Amino acid sequence: MTFQLIDGKATAATIKAEIKQQVEALVADGKRRPHLVAILVGHDGGSETYVKNKVLACEACGFQSTLIRYEEDVTEGELLEKVAELNHRDDVDGFIVQLPLPKHIDEQRINEAIAWQKDVDGFTPINVGRMSLGLPSFVSATPKGILTLLQRYDIPTSGQKVVILGRSNIVGKPMAQLMMQKQWGDSTVVVCHSHSKQLREECLSADIIIAAIGRPDFLTADMVRPGATVIDVGTTRVPDATRKTGFRLNGDVKFDEVAPKCSYITPVPGGVGPMTICMLMQNTLEAYIMREV
Ligand code: NAP
Repeated sequence: MTFQLIDGKATAATIKAEIKQQVEALVADGKRRPHLVAILVGHDGGSETYVKNKVLACEACGFQSTLIRYEEDVTEGELLEKVAELNHRDDVDGFIVQLPLPKHIDEQRINEAIAWQKDVDGFTPINVGRMSLGLPSFVSATPKGILTLLQRYDIPTSGQKVVILGRSNIVGKPMAQLMMQKQWGDSTVVVCHSHSKQLREECLSADIIIAAIGRPDFLTADMVRPGATVIDVGTTRVPDATRKTGFRLNGDVKFDEVAPKCSYITPVPGGVGPMTICMLMQNTLEAYIMREV
């Protein structure tokens, strides 16, 4: 079977160009640029890279961006004060607090302090609740990116059986909500996790499998029915002496043997990953439009 590769990198570039075009039209109309603020605490290498990429994406989209840095010893009170300030600032459309935070800070308390109208990560309980009710909300970036890929590749979802592997708050759970709801996926959804007994059988009956468990090469060819669509969210760092970095990113899908059975499949890297930051940009534009236009 010939499969089609879902190119997340190219799709993300196209969407960012579309956003940029929209922003330049607004600016030409005398409007200000959308403004995203990122709060970064400490010097964790991974977080530094993520935030740097978010700032670069802002530039590509014609957004204003501001990076607010704190050292590891920042107090919870100081961060809460900054969140309260950003909630009220008229020139800020959305902001994110890069996770993880140092252990002495209660991440959930910080998350809950963010006004849902500026929560472009879509992580606050109000946004998650609004999304579950089908109300206007910000959908977290990775699930939104996956739905967008399915839509842009004209892969039908309505009435299809979607099996999601993983039930995390940032991927599995919001993905299930999104695929289940009538106005988005309109699919029949099954969520599997580490205690699921019939996981292989569920996967074998799926039209679409979305793997988000962080177990390299977990999904093998014997778990996939011919013609299925497979979305690989997994990005585990696996040691690789041939790479300059000393590691490579490995997905949850055993790509070489699964791909030939699929109609569509995402690669790792270059599939879901690039869509995540792109959807953060889209959420920021939506937050701006909600306030300004
Ligand atoms: P997580 O919080 O680590 O949770 C993993 C989930 O997988 C849990 O629900 C767990 O089940 C389930 N699981 C683990 N082992 C399993 C097994 N053997 N069989 C069935 N289910 C199993 O997950 P996450 O944060 O969503 O991340 C998942 C992967 O996606 C990671 O590789 C992460 O790096 C990647 N990711 C990528 C992006 C991107 O933009 N590309 C974004 C986010 C995450 P229990 O609930 O029973 O423990």
